[in-house]
Amino acid sequence: MMNLSFNSPSNTANNNVRFGYRSDLKRIVNAGAADCAYCERPFTESNRATLEHIRPHSKGGVSNVSNYLPVHARCNQIRGNEDFAPYIRTHQNKIGYIQNTLNELRGQIIDGRDYVPAVARTLNRESQGYTSFHGAIHKGINA
Ligand SMILES: [Zn+2]
Repeated sequence: MMNLSFNSPSNTANNNVRFGYRSDLKRIVNAGAADCAYCERPFTESNRATLEHIRPHSKGGVSNVSNYLPVHARCNQIRGNEDFAPYIRTHQNKIGYIQNTLNELRGQIIDGRDYVPAVARTLNRESQGYTSFHGAIHKGINA
């Protein structure tokens, strides 16, 4: 008889929790540039960064740095493939953690893109108006 348990690994696996995605983001944060966007703790040799898809890959999210947040493997697995808007509504402490990570990475060109404005656009879209992340480098004549 087939095992239809909801707890079986095959049923809980999802496309958002793959650790093989390539991006310089992992290298940069593992070298100490920023802490985890979901728990604010540092990345360490034994607890390194994974690439969290803001919009889950299984729900059409792109696999490039504009859709990535650096988070621990465990932090990545806890969210699974829940949509970002309901996730952030029920984990409001993470709004500040995510913004701190953006602040730490401000000005970094990652995978050929200005990371913070690109990822802030994705965060704001996926938040669906619930909150707002700040991606601008600074306010000035070019803002
Ligand atoms: Zn974490």
